[in-house]
Formats: sequence, structure tokens, C-alpha cells
Amino acid sequence: MTRKSLLERSRRAVWHPCTQMKTHESLPLVPLSRGEGVWLYDTDGRRMLDGVSSWWVNLFGHCNPRINDAIAEQLETLEHAMLAGFTHEPVVQLSERLAALTGHALGHAFYASDGASATEIALKMSMHAWRNRGETGKSRFVSLAGSYHGETVGALAVTDVALFRDAYAPLIRSGATVCSPDARAAEPGESDEDVAERAAQALAHYLETHHHDIAALIVEPLVQGACGMAMYHPHYLRRARELCDRWNVHLIADEIAVGCGRTGTFFACEQAGIWPDFICLSKGISGGYLPLSLVLTTDDIYACFYDDDVRRGFLHSHSYTGNALACRAALATLDIFAADDVITANRARAERLGAATRAAFGDDPAVRHLRQRGMIVAFDVDTPLADFSTRYFRAALAHEVLLRPIGNTVYFMPPYIVEDDDIAHLVGGARKALDAALRP
Ligand SMILES: *Cc1c(COP(=O)(O)O)cnc(C)c1O
Repeated sequence: MTRKSLLERSRRAVWHPCTQMKTHESLPLVPLSRGEGVWLYDTDGRRMLDGVSSWWVNLFGHCNPRINDAIAEQLETLEHAMLAGFTHEPVVQLSERLAALTGHALGHAFYASDGASATEIALKMSMHAWRNRGETGKSRFVSLAGSYHGETVGALAVTDVALFRDAYAPLIRSGATVCSPDARAAEPGESDEDVAERAAQALAHYLETHHHDIAALIVEPLVQGACGMAMYHPHYLRRARELCDRWNVHLIADEIAVGCGRTGTFFACEQAGIWPDFICLSKGISGGYLPLSLVLTTDDIYACFYDDDVRRGFLHSHSYTGNALACRAALATLDIFAADDVITANRARAERLGAATRAAFGDDPAVRHLRQRGMIVAFDVDTPLADFSTRYFRAALAHEVLLRPIGNTVYFMPPYIVEDDDIAHLVGGARKALDAALRP
């Protein structure tokens, strides 16, 4: 199969996600042939370092032998069976191990396949839990400015990214948006923590007047990814927890992007020393191999549904709920976390990634707000170029790096196996790409 015909056939038959397909008249698709570790290879054998972990999902590299072996073994045993009325070892083990990772604060796991479905589940469970308690008025949700929780119609109600929302406005039952604790909003003399406190006061004010209608506050803990890696102080999460308790509102932590060690702890919420009522996980949980998402919740919420009456149960399902292959990939992923003490090893790795980025970009007058939380490093580029993101993407590919800026925000979110030479390649390529992208 020649490269050219693969691209032609893809353009004709495949509708690519998050894409105006007409742009591919001039911007060629990248035809991939294989992946190995941090590298992806195109059909001409050219390599590129996966600097965004393939849309934030990959943790331990492509074609990781340990995850491959686990999936292959599971494939010989049980590939999939319905989870209503049935159960199996991988789904039980995974639920037990995730419960243990929360210190059994959130001991019940409900499964789906994609991140947006996990958001839908958390929203439905929250509202239904209040209803089962007789609080029928609590059916609205609060989210942060710039929030992203997925793109299904329900999830768009708590997603504040105009580009993804506006066309579907008539379908969406909008929730309320409160001020984001994004540290970039600091006034002169204000610390990150001050900004977080200011945002918490806005939340306090909102909940004080509207708590009767509100089922839950949903947040992306510590890093709001899709709006451009907005980072904030953990103080906000502590205050959000207090305020939700005070006004009888659930706290949903969407850890789909920030969970699984991405911010430096297994769950981002750990850095604030709090547990939410719901945690949504997806993306990295299967190591970036298979579509798997889940919602963890507490004994209290679970008890609201436990009854002789069927209608008080949570009657939600997806065909692939608890897929055995995906759960097995997740178990292999958790095995790697434990065996390699990944959270500890990542501390030094993140330090090196941050230092290399500061050395390459710290003094650049076009670079603003260079920031880091664990294995996410980001900065904003001051440029009037409307097509900066596409120019940068192309320029980075020419230097064997896969990077997709969000607007003018360039970010690195590599797999947790980047070694020093990979970091040098990633940051060095990113530096040359910036020079090329800004050149007139
Ligand atoms: C990616 C993402 C989602 C949606 O997950 P999908 O699997 O793409 O549906 C939801 N929330 C956050 C924070 C995300 O980053």
C-alpha cells in the first residue's frame, strides 16, 4: 500500500475527529505504520516522539511488552461478556485495586468505555442519588470557566469551550459556570493560592444563593486540560470540598486527563488532601490501549440506590461495560505503577523535563506563563498568527516531534518512559519548531 493511496482512502472513507476535513486538502494526514516506546513511525519509516501521549492516553509507551502480554493472555481466556448478571476476575480485581488506591473512600466502581460516558454517569448518579433521598429539586450542575468534560450532549452541559458547544446550543441544558482558579489570572502581588481563594469566594457566593437547585460541582482537579493547560493551586479543591459539604452539593472530580499519575500523585485530588464524591477515570487507565472509563463513588452514594425497588437502582449500561480485555490492560498498567514505583520515579523525570523546558524557553520574550504540574509542562506563545497551532504542529513534525498546541499554548505531556535523551529530543525539537513557526 503506497503512502499516497492510504491518505486518499482515509480522506474518502474515514471522518476524522475534531477536524474540519477540508483542511486535509492542504495539510496531509500522517499515515502511521507502527509504534514502539515513545516513538511513532510513519509508512516511510520516519519517526516522531509522541510528546502528547496520543491525546493524553499513553502512559508507558506504545506496544509496551508487559501490557501486550497481559492482553494476549486475557485474549486466550475471556475477551468480553456482559456485566449485568455476570462478573469476572479482571473487573473485580480492578475495582478492588482502585478502591484501595482511594484508601476505600470511594469503594464502588461503575464502568463505561469513553471519558464522556463517565461524565454522563457521574452527572446522572449525582442527580439520582439526591432524588432517591427525596431532594427532587437538585438537578443542575456547576462547572468552571474553560471546563472540558467531554462532547456528548450531556457532557457539553458542563463543558465551557465555545468551539465544541456553540453549534449544538439548542440541544444543551446549560449549567452554571463559575470563575476558574487559573493561576494566570493573578493580579500583581497575588500568589497562585490567592487566585484560588478569590475563585473559591465566587463559588461560595454562587452556592449560597443556588444550592437548592444544584446537584454537583464538577471540576478538572489542578489542571484544566482542553482549555489550554490552565493550572491552579490545590487550595481551591480544599475550599470546594468544604463548600460542597456546607451546601449539600456533590463534588465530582473529572480525573480523566489528570488521573493515573499525570500531575505527580496517582489521583490529582491527593495533592489537596481531599476525596470527592465521584472520580471519573479514563484515558491513561488502560495504559492508552483500549477504551475504558469508570466512575468511582462512595459507600454513601452507593447506599442511596440499594433498595428493593428496581427504579431506585442505577439503570444505566453500555454494551462493553467492564470489558475484560480493557480491565486486564488496566491491571497491567497498575502493576507497572507498583513494580516500577512510577510515582516516585516520575518526580525526578518531571524535574528534568521542567528544567530542560525552562532552559530552552525561559528567556524567550514570546513565551508567557511557563508552568508545570507533574508530567505536564506548558507555556503560551505571544503571537498574532491565527494559524499558529497548525504551523507549529507541522514544524514540530519536521523535527521528529508530535506536538499539537491548543490555540497558542504549547504543551508537553509525554509517556512516563521518557529518558534524558528523549527529553533532549522533545525539547530541542520543540525549540526549533517554535523558531520555524514564528519565522515570517
Ligand atoms: C478527554 C477528556 C474527557 C472526555 O473523554 P473522551 O474519552 O474523549 O470522551 C473528559 N474530561 C476530561 C478532563 C478530558 O480530558
